[in-house]
This record gives sequence, C-alpha cells and structure tokens, in this order.
Amino acid sequence: MFSTSTAPDLAETVTEAIRAHRDHVAADNRRSYWPSIEETAGRFSTIGEAVVEVELRIRFGKRYVSYDKDDEYTIAFTASARCTGHGCTDPRHQQPATDTFLLDDDADKSAAAALLSVAAVRKWAQTHAGTCRALRYDGR
Ligand SMILES: [Zn+2]
Repeated sequence: MFSTSTAPDLAETVTEAIRAHRDHVAADNRRSYWPSIEETAGRFSTIGEAVVEVELRIRFGKRYVSYDKDDEYTIAFTASARCTGHGCTDPRHQQPATDTFLLDDDADKSAAAALLSVAAVRKWAQTHAGTCRALRYDGR
C-alpha cells in the first residue's frame, strides 16, 4: 500500500540538475535568475486512496561577494509534501530549506543534503498516508 516504487533515483536526478546548471551558467553567466526546478521525490497512497506527493525544489541563485571577486552561484533545496485528499485536515508539510551550497561544491555532497531533507519529508508522508482518512479528490 505504501509504495515507494514510483520514486526516481533522486541522487542521480539532483547531481544531473547541478551539472546541467553549471553548463547553463558557463553558457550565460550574466543571468542572475533561473527558475527553480521541482522534482517528484515520492508518492504515497492514503487509506482513502488519496495521494501524498513528495517534492524536492531545487533553487539556483547568484550572490554578490565583493567588487574584486566573481559572483557566487548557489544552490539550495526544499523538500515538501502535499496530500491531495479531499478535506484533508493537515495536507502540507515542509522541511526548512537546506544550507546554501555553492554550485561548484561537490555535487554528491550537495545532493546528500537534499536527500536527507527528502527522507524526513518522506517519513512524514508515509505516516500521513497511514493515518489520513481524507478521500481521493475525483474532480466532481
Ligand atoms: Zn491527508
């Protein structure tokens, strides 16, 4: 019932997103804003057959250091969960954002922090799925 089989290999997804963003920055380093990326990080079915979705938001940034230094490119992660149950009394959960990492930091280490945050949210989602009695919203 509490299937995690739809969860992608998140570590790989995150490290790939970091590498792709390094390419973007290399190609256009004057841009100061990039949209954040949202990745599905898990999906749980509740007793009432509603779905609790776990999401990881990857936020890219750029920050000024000093007049004689290059700007720093940053990355931070926020994991959250949302229950789609109709009438759910506690449908949202969010971890505080992770530390801000530099884009050039070891991608595996940055990804590890993201995964830690996701693990905490997945735990909430799984517990919520096991107790939430809200019914699946069928659009009618
Ligand atoms: Zn719920």
